[in-house]
Amino acid sequence: MKRVLLSAAGILACTAIFAQGRTDFPMKPEMTEIWDPQISVITPGETPSNAPSDAIVLFDGQNLSTEWTNNDGTEPGWNVADGCATVKKGAGVIKTKRQFNDFQLHIEWRSPVEVIGESQGRGNSGVFLQGIYEVQVLDNFNNRTYRNGQAGSLYKQHPPLVNACKGPGVWQVYDIIYTAPRFNPNGTFFTPPTVTVLHNGVLVQNHVALRGPTEYIGIPEYSVKPHGAGPIVLQDHGNPVSFRNIWIREL
Ligand code: MG
Repeated sequence: MKRVLLSAAGILACTAIFAQGRTDFPMKPEMTEIWDPQISVITPGETPSNAPSDAIVLFDGQNLSTEWTNNDGTEPGWNVADGCATVKKGAGVIKTKRQFNDFQLHIEWRSPVEVIGESQGRGNSGVFLQGIYEVQVLDNFNNRTYRNGQAGSLYKQHPPLVNACKGPGVWQVYDIIYTAPRFNPNGTFFTPPTVTVLHNGVLVQNHVALRGPTEYIGIPEYSVKPHGAGPIVLQDHGNPVSFRNIWIREL
């Protein structure tokens, strides 16, 4: 109870400080200590890539149909073998059955070991946040393409800060922190969607704001149809890109 009172006093003190920018009474350390509510305790995974205890596992390498469907709601048409799911050309996108707003997403991907094609034609797939905002997946290991379309880009909107690609056939990691947009009544963003991406543990997108849904052609529109929660969608771009160890934490 004493701590609760201290925390309440601390909040009041902080409010006064932030409001005025100064205090006209002597501050004590505990006045800026906030104790409640207590931070939730979770068990981290054995390695940073393993799902923590409060994550929803979207794909464990075995069963894709528990959490995913084709775009039309039928069983996902991708190939599942050797602990991963691989794009089956022509089968189309797969999407999560669940819908998400703000989240932390961990996803591992691997471009084909056999290098075929160049630029956007090599190991192309994508992770669509809420189904409409693409984090590009591409084999950019010794493969030049336009900077705002390479691996780790928010496609056609934000190039990655660096190229952190590993080679073809090597597993790579995206850790994506996403904050969904909030909308004005007229359909414009009150706050746009924002995205932070770590590629193989390296920061490649630092809390960037999106203009609108990903567009292959043309300028993304600020004015979009307001939307609520949406699925994670993985792209079929015709290249046999593989995915594994997909988990998400709703924020
Ligand atoms: Mg793509």
